[in-house]
Amino acid sequence: MRTFLIAASALLSACALAPLAAAQTPVQPVDLLLTSATVVDVEKGTTTPDQLVAVRGGDIVAVAPEGEAGRYQAARTLDLGDRYVMPGLWDMHVHFGGGETLIEENAELMPLFVVNGVVAVRDAAGDLAQQVLDWRASPPTVDAPRIFTSGPKIEGIAPVWKGVIETGSEADVDAALDRLQALRVDFVKITDNTLKPELFLYAVREAKARGMKTSAHIPASITVLEAAEAGLSSIEHLDYAMKAGSRDEAAIAADYLAGKYTYAETMRRYADTFDVETARRVYARLRELGTAVSPTLYGSTTLANLDLDDHSQDEGLAYVGPGIRATYDWRIQRAAQATAQQVEDRHFVKEVTSRTLPMLRDAGVTILTGTDAGFLNSFNYPGFSLHDELELYVELGLTPREALMGSVVDGPRFLNQGRRYGAVAAGKSADLLVLEADPLKDVSATRDAEAVVLRGRLIDAAELERMRAEIRARVAARNATFKPSPAS
Ligand SMILES: [Zn+2]
Repeated sequence: MRTFLIAASALLSACALAPLAAAQTPVQPVDLLLTSATVVDVEKGTTTPDQLVAVRGGDIVAVAPEGEAGRYQAARTLDLGDRYVMPGLWDMHVHFGGGETLIEENAELMPLFVVNGVVAVRDAAGDLAQQVLDWRASPPTVDAPRIFTSGPKIEGIAPVWKGVIETGSEADVDAALDRLQALRVDFVKITDNTLKPELFLYAVREAKARGMKTSAHIPASITVLEAAEAGLSSIEHLDYAMKAGSRDEAAIAADYLAGKYTYAETMRRYADTFDVETARRVYARLRELGTAVSPTLYGSTTLANLDLDDHSQDEGLAYVGPGIRATYDWRIQRAAQATAQQVEDRHFVKEVTSRTLPMLRDAGVTILTGTDAGFLNSFNYPGFSLHDELELYVELGLTPREALMGSVVDGPRFLNQGRRYGAVAAGKSADLLVLEADPLKDVSATRDAEAVVLRGRLIDAAELERMRAEIRARVAARNATFKPSPAS
């Protein structure tokens, strides 16, 4: 009875206040209020000054002219002094792995992404699939990007890769897809080391029929266009775009498969026969089919330039554990053994490959900004390298807006997350970067975030600095006790 009375009187007073409430919206409690913000709309390529951004829990609840600040009562307010706010970055191609002994070092990469403004990553398979799936559900630290993962990738029988699902028949592929669906993977990764080409195409078609996205290294005997026609969702690495632009793609592949040329010679032959008209035709079709390309240009450029660049003073070295750094060695050693001809070929292939990026843009192909950061990929430092990747796109002729689209707008869309990500707007996840300068004018502005908002939690400049110091101290402590394992 008493409860009823209170409810009734509350109802009465609510009614009495109704006309007033209509004239003056009641003050809303929020957790975080960013004021004097210049909001960056990457998709439209515009900035809007004098805005407030209100955050409650992990959500942006309002973006409004800052004259409306009085409507909010915030647990914490940060005056941005006209600084820029944009969505947090996504790296659409990273790897976690390097074996069980490196699980902790991989976990320690999580805050490294965050201090570099990367709030989400797409893991394109490694040898720690179950661990990464566990981290997706329950991150190893509060300062971790959101993880999307392929889980274990589909391969053939006894491939060079560890921790994959081996398939030798259509029934094997069906079982693999059953298992991946049960694991609720975010996409299916398929690679071509020992996978039969017909099973590759079968896997792509069957995954598509199940509504699963696919991402792949394409077997040599299948043209890039054939893979796209089969329904491949994303092509990893720009060298496939270069190969697709060769006027003799199929014939060169046949020579390679017949053992007439090495892999490196074959890549040179694709580059030698790269033809602008062929490339335009293929890229136009990729666009029609909705096949995206994740360039991982920083990864391939770093490898191609190993003979030129001195990495001994890289800032990133202090942020990556010695076990992961040890996995860099095999590529470094392989590069060091290259003949002068091989080095020249590598540079030539890289030049032709780089030219495809603005051509893909012109054709309207979706570009997913991804780096290949992680174990094995030498000097490709998680978090840092996303900025290198963005800068390379701009050097090659993309606008800063186009480079950022592939990270913050098309990245989430590819993973069916467009509703929650891609803009600083009410209803979106509160994953934000606060920047000193306009990233649409200079993409390097994203390199030094003044603050990061991670799922609603403000990490200000002082905390970012503290996190960086913590990562460096942890790596230094590991360096002091590191003993290379026989395997590495
Ligand atoms: Zn990769």
